[in-house]
Amino acid sequence: MEVIVVGAGPAGMMAAIQAAREGARVTVLERKDKPLKKLYATGNGRCNFSNLNMEGDVYRGNDPGFARMVTDCYDRNSLLLFFHNLGMMTKHIGDYIYPYNEQARSVADALLLECRRLSVRIKCDEQVVDIIPKSDPDDSDSGFDIRTITGKYNCDKVIVATGGKASPAHGSDGNLNGVLISLGHTMITQRPALVPLKFSDKRLGKLAGVRIKCAVSLTADGEAVADERGEIILNKDNISGIPVMQMSRYATEALAQGRVTEVHIDLFPDETQDELKVLLNNTFHPEYAVFDRCEQGNRVKRSDIRRDRSALEALSLCLNEKLAEYCLSLARIVPGSLGGNVSDGTLNRLAGILKDMRVTVTGDAGYERAQVTSGGISTDELTADLGSRLIPGLYIVGELCDVDGTCGGYNLQWAFSSGALAGTDAAGGIK
Ligand SMILES: Cc1cc2nc3c(=O)[nH]c(=O)nc-3n(C[C@H](O)[C@H](O)[C@H](O)COP(=O)(O)OP(=O)(O)OC[C@H]3O[C@@H](n4cnc5c(N)ncnc54)[C@H](O)[C@@H]3O)c2cc1C
Repeated sequence: MEVIVVGAGPAGMMAAIQAAREGARVTVLERKDKPLKKLYATGNGRCNFSNLNMEGDVYRGNDPGFARMVTDCYDRNSLLLFFHNLGMMTKHIGDYIYPYNEQARSVADALLLECRRLSVRIKCDEQVVDIIPKSDPDDSDSGFDIRTITGKYNCDKVIVATGGKASPAHGSDGNLNGVLISLGHTMITQRPALVPLKFSDKRLGKLAGVRIKCAVSLTADGEAVADERGEIILNKDNISGIPVMQMSRYATEALAQGRVTEVHIDLFPDETQDELKVLLNNTFHPEYAVFDRCEQGNRVKRSDIRRDRSALEALSLCLNEKLAEYCLSLARIVPGSLGGNVSDGTLNRLAGILKDMRVTVTGDAGYERAQVTSGGISTDELTADLGSRLIPGLYIVGELCDVDGTCGGYNLQWAFSSGALAGTDAAGGIK
């Protein structure tokens, strides 16, 4: 059995290993000059490859149940066992799972050492440009001709693991999509996901570098679409941070539909607006004790409002100063004006802004800055082992499929799980 894997990313390398373990002769064709280029960049070089918590809405796409089925079948424990058997220790920080030394290189080395042991051939600088099923498409043994820019290969089974379009510098740019479409496959519209969201508000851009722990929600034409909580980062022309990245696939979709897309930032997620109003009142109008001497000479205590601080100085006591200045301007409060003079009504307006600071989204930061791609080959056309229902003997795995995960190691778990099932099945292994 001759298996060709197209693309030496995590999905392709896992597929190659599993097929070789089942006794197939395996060749991996990779367009870049070395395998696993993107893997080295994952998790800021630490490679968060899975998660202790696989529950909930962690996979997206037209059929999230498909991703669930595949990642249940070859699950987190199967993946941990796989790496432990290769001698790579692992650890978790919170729920996120990493190699023990927190170096992506260890994950790459573990995969490459196993490929070497199994005599998997990895041919770099080989870009596949066509996949041609041999004469009888109904006969799964008829095989494929694989054309690269410079050469030709033959195989019985082919596993396509060319990734999505995110981070094209690492080799994945959708260059083989046309071939899969011409073979009859449906491409669900691809868009950047896990990507910073752009805005055009120049005043907001002046807050670049500010990090905010907050709750965020996304609306499209005023309709609630997603919500998250965590730390966001304001940049010159975009917002990033895990909560924004998680919501971004819905933002790119809404923008493509021409809907008005807004991020709502709740700067005080643990307080209701009324509670916040009380806190602001205390900050802007703090009372202090005054002792007046009355006619009989006794001291009488009364309270007065401090008038020692500007509105900006007051709000900066509980908010980053640049952010405080921006929010004051939204509430039409002059930053240098006396805090004690800000009326109750105006404080109420400020509380409303702090609970719902809105950022109109004008776009996304593009595939160059995206961590994954939403959309891809429709999973309706794939078997539970990632085999094509249209072209027997062809498999489609990893980010190329219409599956995208949230942050936390879910995308690599999907890549490894889908690659493992396809590799085993392609080589005719035990299900
Ligand atoms: C900066 C960054 C950080 C990330 N961090 C994490 C993280 O911490 N945790 C996580 O779970 N996910 C993370 N991801 C996402 C994760 O890396 C991807 O989902 C995963 O790599 C997808 O694996 P894949 O094998 O399907 O595709 P890829 O890794 O994209 O590999 C595809 C391979 O196919 C090759 N190729 C493409 N076309 C051809 C062709 N025609 N012929 C031959 N070869 C071809 C490419 O060169 C590439 O090597 C991150 C992504 C980025 C960009």
